[in-house]
Amino acid sequence: MPSQKTATGERALRIAVIGAGASGILSGIKLREAGIADVVIYEKADRPGGTWRENHYPGLSCDVPSHVYRYSFEPNPDWSRLFSPGPEIQNYLEAMVRKYGLDEVIRYDREVVRCEWDGARWEVELSDGEVDHADVVIAATGVLHHPRTPEIEGLERFEGACFHSARWDDSTVLDGKRVGIIGNGSTGVQITTAVSGRASHLSLFQRTAQWVLPQENPVYSEEEKARFRDDRELCQHLYRELNKSFITNFSHAVVDAESEGIAMVETACRAHLDEKVADPELKAKLTPDYRAGCKRLVVAGGFYEALQRSDTELVTEDIESVEATGVRTRDGRLHPLDVLVLATGFQTHQFIRPTKVIGRDGIRLDDAWAESNRTYLSVSVPQFPNFFMLVGPYSPVGNFSLIGVAETQLSYVMQLIEVLRDGRARQVAARADATERFFAEMVEATKGTIWASGCKSWYIDKSGVPASWPWDYDRFESMMATPDLKDFELL
Ligand code: NAP
Repeated sequence: MPSQKTATGERALRIAVIGAGASGILSGIKLREAGIADVVIYEKADRPGGTWRENHYPGLSCDVPSHVYRYSFEPNPDWSRLFSPGPEIQNYLEAMVRKYGLDEVIRYDREVVRCEWDGARWEVELSDGEVDHADVVIAATGVLHHPRTPEIEGLERFEGACFHSARWDDSTVLDGKRVGIIGNGSTGVQITTAVSGRASHLSLFQRTAQWVLPQENPVYSEEEKARFRDDRELCQHLYRELNKSFITNFSHAVVDAESEGIAMVETACRAHLDEKVADPELKAKLTPDYRAGCKRLVVAGGFYEALQRSDTELVTEDIESVEATGVRTRDGRLHPLDVLVLATGFQTHQFIRPTKVIGRDGIRLDDAWAESNRTYLSVSVPQFPNFFMLVGPYSPVGNFSLIGVAETQLSYVMQLIEVLRDGRARQVAARADATERFFAEMVEATKGTIWASGCKSWYIDKSGVPASWPWDYDRFESMMATPDLKDFELL
């Protein structure tokens, strides 16, 4: 049925949001605040929370300070630490769902399998065969979402417990067991630090050394929390200051491989290693042969200490195969294990897929993105009208708070939705020429970033380009402040 007008004369839109993680919840809050009542959020799981629901491994925390890893408009005075544990973030997101009454609009256990433009609206098909229709689709489907299982010979033959870090089996006992962890990204480092000392023996299988920026993680005292509770402005001040310091110290640094800032990051990582690890052999194994910040920087405390416990071992020999009783490395050694954790990361360039997205004239997103995930400003794709992405391809992802990124993008998308509501157009999609121009400029700019300085990382897409916003955060905010409608096809 075509959309009607509201009592105030605006076009009444039905908006389908995919995913009830941090960006989907944000969309629900902001769309309803803007007076758009007909919102539905499809969530494939039975709870909200996205990555914070899916990840519940030991040691999970966020390496963005908690007072900035939250909605800008919703301070939380009760964070327990500077960097709070994952379950607190999950609780915060669930509290937001309750506070804003979003359970009314979230439909749990509903996976969107197909979105198809029918010429006027989006047909949204769910896994149970139900079909909905929406004027606008917002894909809030996340980046680090689809686990990457390594192709290691014999993995299926392992007879102990074996799971990906994002599919943690809470019933598996770790205490007193022989635990192996494959992967030393942010996840593997957090798990190693938490499990070392609990396992009878822990083996961390490292393929490539990582730079580790030291992290102090003080607790907030009850007095501090009381002050935050009594003084909302204090929380807001902290949010602004943390944001500002991040932009000054980090966001400029990563996008300029020759910057003083990124050299300072490497100096800090090197000093951390020097201070914590005296054994030259271990230090050599832990020293990367690429520049700090090239891979997504690991920020952690206690990791080097954990590795030097007598019950913990860093294994740097390549893995040859997995056998029924453990992992065999190329030197012929069998590492006997009861539990094998795959902290092997995510398929980071999947975005909304495997959901089939079909735009104008039957064009499929898979085909539009055959060479690379081309978008206009990460939010819109030519020929896919009224389809917007949050934290889509080339969003700023290098150690940024993705909640802040999503807020900036949503405010931009809301301005495009306003164009539909006030009748300036019935369809909005980025123009192909504007997208090509933007994409070419972006690819050129990635060449100067630290991510392109020569390493293998999850930023790099199939065309060999680091898929992250290649300019500083100020430029992200200024470019995303107001849409330039000349770059959009309005029909
Ligand atoms: P990741 O950074 O992609 O690391 C995957 C690890 O698995 C790497 O060490 C990789 O080695 C290793 N690996 C993959 N396949 C392998 C194989 N076949 N054999 C041996 N080793 C293999 O994944 P992640 O640690 O899950 O982190 C992903 C991202 O999630 C992070 O970069 C971060 O953005 C986010 N995260 C954030 C936090 C936080 O505190 N905010 C916490 C966890 C995760 P190579 O390096 O050799 O490829």
